[in-house]
Amino acid sequence: MKCPYCGAEMEAGVIQSPHELAWNDKKYFAARAQLHKGSIVLSELSMLKGSAIIAHCCRKCEKIVIDYQNGICDINRKNKF
Ligand SMILES: [Zn+2]
Repeated sequence: MKCPYCGAEMEAGVIQSPHELAWNDKKYFAARAQLHKGSIVLSELSMLKGSAIIAHCCRKCEKIVIDYQNGICDINRKNKF
């Protein structure tokens, strides 16, 4: 993936958590996506594997990009197929 800021090739990596990974419009005490309209689930919680997504990093621009189209970033989901 090319960096949308500088055009250099980005470094692929992983962001992981023991909890669900979701984007929300603000910080909530209970961050579960199913509780909040408009939430975007990046990786559903797996009790065995935890949550993990693929993200691309540009160290020069200090930016991290997550492509969540069709759940492509979710490592747990990818392993189901
Ligand atoms: Zn960059």
